Amino acid sequence: MTQQFTYQALPMRVRFGVRAFDVITEELEHLGLKKVVVLCSPGRKELGQLLADALGASHLTTIPKAVMHVPQELAEDVIAEVENLGADGCVSIGGGSAIGLGKAVALELGLPTIAIPTTYAGSEMTTVWGSTAAGKKQTGRNEKVLPKSVIYDPSLSTGLPVDTSVTSGFNAIAHAVEALYAPDRSPIVSLMAEEGVRALTTALPAISANPESLQARSDALYGAWLCGACLGSTTMSLHHKICHALGGTLNLPHAETHTVMLPHVLAFNQPVIPTAVGALSRALGGTKNPAKRLWELATKLGAPVSLASLGMSYADIPRIARQVHEESYGNPREASLDDITRILFTAWTGEDIFPRSNMR
Ligand code: NAD
Repeated sequence: MTQQFTYQALPMRVRFGVRAFDVITEELEHLGLKKVVVLCSPGRKELGQLLADALGASHLTTIPKAVMHVPQELAEDVIAEVENLGADGCVSIGGGSAIGLGKAVALELGLPTIAIPTTYAGSEMTTVWGSTAAGKKQTGRNEKVLPKSVIYDPSLSTGLPVDTSVTSGFNAIAHAVEALYAPDRSPIVSLMAEEGVRALTTALPAISANPESLQARSDALYGAWLCGACLGSTTMSLHHKICHALGGTLNLPHAETHTVMLPHVLAFNQPVIPTAVGALSRALGGTKNPAKRLWELATKLGAPVSLASLGMSYADIPRIARQVHEESYGNPREASLDDITRILFTAWTGEDIFPRSNMR
C-alpha cells in the first residue's frame, strides 16, 4: 500500500552544542528583542543570575517562581508582572516547569520566548501548553507558545542529578514511544522517534556512570530534542493521558510518573503495534520485548518503578482509572475501564509484569 500522511513542520530555530551564555545576545538580536524577563524555577536561581549577567542591559528582571504543572494563579501573577514591566520577550532557563511558565506568558501576551532547557522533558519543542487549577490539569496546543529559538548547551545539564536525569530521559522516551503508534504518525517522526530512543537509552547509562561527561550529556540532549519534536508533531495516547491525570489530580512528580508508567502501558499496547515494536527493538539494540527492556533499564538505573513509591495511595486507583476512561483520547488498543484499572494497579505495586520465561 502506498503511504499517506500529513506532516506539519514547526517553525523553530535550534542552536545545539553551544555555550548558551556566549550566544544568548545573538539570539536576542536575531529576534529583535531588547527587554527580556528571565524565567526559572527557585532551584535554578543561580543559573538565572548567570543568564541575567550574560544578557546585560537587555535583562529586565528574573522571576524564579516556576513550579511543576503551571498553577494558574502563579501564571496569572507572572503574566501581570511581565506585562507591567513592558517586556518584549522572555527567556526560560531550566526544565519543563520554567519552559511551561514561558508558554503561559506567550499564550496570554503573545510574546516570543527563547528556551534554554536543562532537563530532557522536551517541552521546548512543542506547541503544547498546560496549566493546573482546582486539581485538574488543562492542556492545549497553540503555535504562539512554541519558543522561537532553543539553545541546547550540554554543559548546563552536567549538574542535573543522576536520578532526575534518568527520569527526565524516560519522560522524553515516552514521547517517542507514543509517537511511533500515534494516529498522526509519519515516517519522518518515526525516524526521529527511533533515533531519539536510541540516543537516550545509550546516554542515560553513560550519565549514570559519569554525570560530568559532556559527551553523554550532549547525546542525551540530542535525544531529548528528537523526542520532544515527536511530541510536538503527533497526538499522544493512553500513556500520556494516564500521566496527565496522575500529575494534574494527585500532583505526582511528572518525570517519575512517566518512568513508572511507560513499560506498563507499552506492554499493554505491544500486541497490536508490530511496526512500533520493530522500531523500538532496533533502537534498544535488538529485543523482542521493548517494554521489558525499558523496565529493566529503569530498574538498573535506580529509577522508581512503582506509583506507590511516588506517594500514590491505593484508594486513588479507581478514580484515576475512571477519569482516564471518561476522557477521549486515541490509543492503538482499546482500553476498557478494567484494562486501565489493571494497568494502574500493576504500576502502583511496581510488580514485575514480565515473567522470566518471557524475558527476551
Ligand atoms: P522541572 O522543570 O520541574 O525540573 C525538575 C527540578 O530539576 C527542578 O527543581 C529544577 O529546578 C531542577 N533542575 C532543572 N535543571 C537542572 C539542572 N541542570 N541541574 C540541577 N537541577 C535542575 O521538571 P521537568 O521534568 O523538566 O518538567 C516537568 C514539567 O514540564 C511538567 O509540568 C510537565 O507537565 C511539563 N512538560 C510539558 C511538556 C509540553 O510539551 N508542554 C513536555 C514535557 C514536560
